[in-house]
Amino acid sequence: MKKDIVIKAHITCPGCGAEHEEIMPEDGYLCFWDCPTCNARWMPKISDSCVFCSYADVPCPTDQKGAKYDIY
Ligand SMILES: [Zn+2]
Repeated sequence: MKKDIVIKAHITCPGCGAEHEEIMPEDGYLCFWDCPTCNARWMPKISDSCVFCSYADVPCPTDQKGAKYDIY
């Protein structure tokens, strides 16, 4: 069964706690994200490959396609 790839994510700023809706790139990783509320720039946590995996409610499309998040 083919899974649908989710490209819309709600990312929560670790600094100010603001939640923003973002469209994730379907190919490749987003290496940093600028919070529009507090203008801070965030990098992924060391164990993650992109900012969505670290701070958003869904993993990025690249990881959704891979085996890493098979449970979704
Ligand atoms: Zn912020």
